[in-house]
Amino acid sequence: MNSLKTLKTRLGGISEMVDYDGETQRLRDLSARLGRNPLLVQGSTGNTSVKTGDTLWIKASGQWLFQADARDFLAGVSLNAALESVREGMDVPASAVLWGAGSPSIETAMHAVLPHRVVLHVHSVNAIAWAVREDGPRQLVARLRDIRWQWIPYCASGIPLAKEIEAALRACPTTDVFVLANHGLVVCGESCYAAEAMLAAVEARIAITPRPQPEPQWDRLDESAAETGWIRPELQPVHSLALDRASLRITSQGVLYPCQAIFLPDTVAALLRHRRAAAVRVIEGEGVLFHPNCTRAQRELARGLAETAQRIDPAAPIRYLTAAEVSEALDGPAYQVGPAGDRALSAKSTGYWI
Ligand SMILES: [Zn+2]
Repeated sequence: MNSLKTLKTRLGGISEMVDYDGETQRLRDLSARLGRNPLLVQGSTGNTSVKTGDTLWIKASGQWLFQADARDFLAGVSLNAALESVREGMDVPASAVLWGAGSPSIETAMHAVLPHRVVLHVHSVNAIAWAVREDGPRQLVARLRDIRWQWIPYCASGIPLAKEIEAALRACPTTDVFVLANHGLVVCGESCYAAEAMLAAVEARIAITPRPQPEPQWDRLDESAAETGWIRPELQPVHSLALDRASLRITSQGVLYPCQAIFLPDTVAALLRHRRAAAVRVIEGEGVLFHPNCTRAQRELARGLAETAQRIDPAAPIRYLTAAEVSEALDGPAYQVGPAGDRALSAKSTGYWI
């Protein structure tokens, strides 16, 4: 087993060797561009893939899109094995990885069932600002007219989401764009170029101008930081979580999407029992402080939550995750396994899960 793993590791860079038309390199370049855009990707969220023959090249679990030039960024998964897993209702096993040292992303099943050559999945703050609304489907009809898109009701990542996408494709096989309720956006194309162009088109249509951000109470925040040893983030957008009344209400009354529950349990009172170590302190009317141990993933997710909330109409009907959906996200195996399948590396401490 170890020697097999060593062999796979040694062959991790094989994507370049079998990259006859340069598409895996283009996927890496595109992934890095997406990963550098905080309005599309936060922490290790989001994933990208390209199919070449029977191999599905997909971001390995735990990799960050902005580091797409890393040797083990892509895992080469057997497409047939992945589809077989979906048919059997089992998560794609590590044995389906033919090339690379990474574990298959939890979203591998979804990428596998999509017939398109290139699939981009991002946690776009604009998309999520619509995707958490009860009336999201109706709101998007006019904005996405002449784009072949579907609304996917919330379901857990992994096999449930893959099955839901499969059902949507049976209803309309030519769909290119999927808005995932309480989750994010999936955009597909026959090439990296086509998929990126479609993503840009969708983003332009669904873009929301954020409410202006009030100025943090810098002096009081600095005092609090000095007293507690917490850190006052420079990143201005995150402070709207504490300063914008609507954002504070929207983000504190429930869980908008799984990453909020996993990375930012401090923001929601209902998640009190799930807090292991406080990481983010939202001080109403003053601003936000980060604990010194707050991870980069948590900081990026906090900014993403703030950017999303600033784009949600205060009068919009919000659909929060149910208690069962939150528990599923926090306790499900998908979020507990680290990049090498190491259960000790939980999402809560490392951000490795997607
Ligand atoms: Zn996702």
